[in-house]
Amino acid sequence: MAENTEQQPGKTIHAGGEWLEAVSGATREIIDPADALPFAVVAEGDEKDTDIAVAAARAAFDGGQGAWPRTPVTERAALLRRVADLLVRDREELGLLESRDAGKTVEEGRVDIDCVADAFRYFADLVAGEAPGRVVDAGTPDVHSVVVHEPVGVCALITPWNYPLLQASWKIAPALAAGNTFVVKPSEITPLTTVALIDLLVEAGLPAGVANIVTGPGHSVGARLAEHPDVDLVSFTGGLISGTKVAQAAAMTVKKVALELGGKNPNVVFADACASEEGFDTAVDQALNAAFIHSGQVCSAGARLIVEETVRERFVAELARRAEKIRLGRGTEDGVECGPLVSEQQRAKTESYVAAALAEGAVLRSGGKRPEPTATRPATGYFYEPTVLDQCHREMTVVREEVFGPVLTVETFRTEDEAVALANDTEYGLAGAVWTADAGRARRVAGRLRHGTVWINDFHPYLPQAEWGGFGKSGVGRELGPAGLAEYREAKHVYQNLAPRPVRWFAG
Ligand code: NAD
Repeated sequence: MAENTEQQPGKTIHAGGEWLEAVSGATREIIDPADALPFAVVAEGDEKDTDIAVAAARAAFDGGQGAWPRTPVTERAALLRRVADLLVRDREELGLLESRDAGKTVEEGRVDIDCVADAFRYFADLVAGEAPGRVVDAGTPDVHSVVVHEPVGVCALITPWNYPLLQASWKIAPALAAGNTFVVKPSEITPLTTVALIDLLVEAGLPAGVANIVTGPGHSVGARLAEHPDVDLVSFTGGLISGTKVAQAAAMTVKKVALELGGKNPNVVFADACASEEGFDTAVDQALNAAFIHSGQVCSAGARLIVEETVRERFVAELARRAEKIRLGRGTEDGVECGPLVSEQQRAKTESYVAAALAEGAVLRSGGKRPEPTATRPATGYFYEPTVLDQCHREMTVVREEVFGPVLTVETFRTEDEAVALANDTEYGLAGAVWTADAGRARRVAGRLRHGTVWINDFHPYLPQAEWGGFGKSGVGRELGPAGLAEYREAKHVYQNLAPRPVRWFAG
């Protein structure tokens, strides 16, 4: 793997085919959240670096007949497949880098890289298999009318820290497949795998200027991308507050905007799902996974357990018992099941939500504190115990707002209508699940949930070929699937008159 950050510390801005330092010369240390120690240095770009990268992307897009937007789709697809192969080649190193950067376990990092490769392959296959346009009937044989889909132009891609390369690939793969050029801005705290991906795109043969990256903060690099007059589309994944700012800035130049924002995702468990020992074990196991994988720093985390009252006590007791056994530690250590939070700020935010919940009457069933340090869990790392809060209700802040930490709240219901009402009682609408042995009820409840993804008797799986995105304040637009490609395209109607003659609307 071309290790740009190690070979050339601070040269992590890529514009027009060159690796550059920040114009200001500023750098940032990247911190390993397991011990709070720096392990890499990147360029700290700002508005000036952003303008350089956008100019490079613009030039590459507007270039001549052989430029990327006009490259035959079969060649674009072949390049994306080469990128997927390079990701597979570098899976171990990239998985490790993702683990150190974002604090996840190495196995989670590896799975992320597999999913990134899948996204590249999916969009390659999707565009390669498409018809080049849709012929429409103009009502006369003298007209040939066709609707084609063209690339939007220069895309600004802004991504978060929890799934750094995965979120970037859900934007980069369709943007490239559709023929766009782009400037990506990864989260300032987890940029390393996205920097590495740019090297792989270059190695796969992508022409200079098509793929550009500016490492740096949201308030300068991100904000400049969102407002930049030469950017045609901004696709943002992150929190509600930043997403709102991006949408406002983009509105001033009437850019296309796609927003993938937060979630407060319900996991609804009916008693009939727990009737057998096997069913009960599966529902508890998946509730743990829904809430605590990657320490709950997942946009679709099942952070709200909504369980039928008759099974609540048994369910919560078992959940809390198993939550306490989750092995916390440095993600690179064998046997560790869950890493630290990504930053001190994220842990402090989690602690304040738990304190507020307890003050509002929640009952602590597990966690609620920092763990004791061990050999695999340095005292300086940002660890926090998986926390189960019982006796919660919809008025509590912890139930309404996204914590983005290892905190599971428990609410109860008596009827199907009540379960649906609770599950939909959120300003978000990203994802949710229903657990039941009754197939009719499963379909009924799934049909009524106002969430972009609904799982029945499962939690978390997604498919590259199925759209991902949210209702309500979880966002605008979709990633993945055909709609995830359509975000990066403009429809163009080409109407060709085969027998032109005067229309004589005007007498003169
Ligand atoms: P964040 O909003 O703080 O930052 C996201 C990105 O936006 C970063 O690159 C940041 O630098 C940039 N940014 C910040 N302010 C900006 C501004 N004013 N203009 C332009 N860019 C700006 O989010 P985060 O803390 O990195 O990530 C966590 C959030 O991401 C959570 O809310 C989570 O739910 C959400 N998320 C959503 C999805 C999804 O698919 N819907 C996936 C992953 C994460």
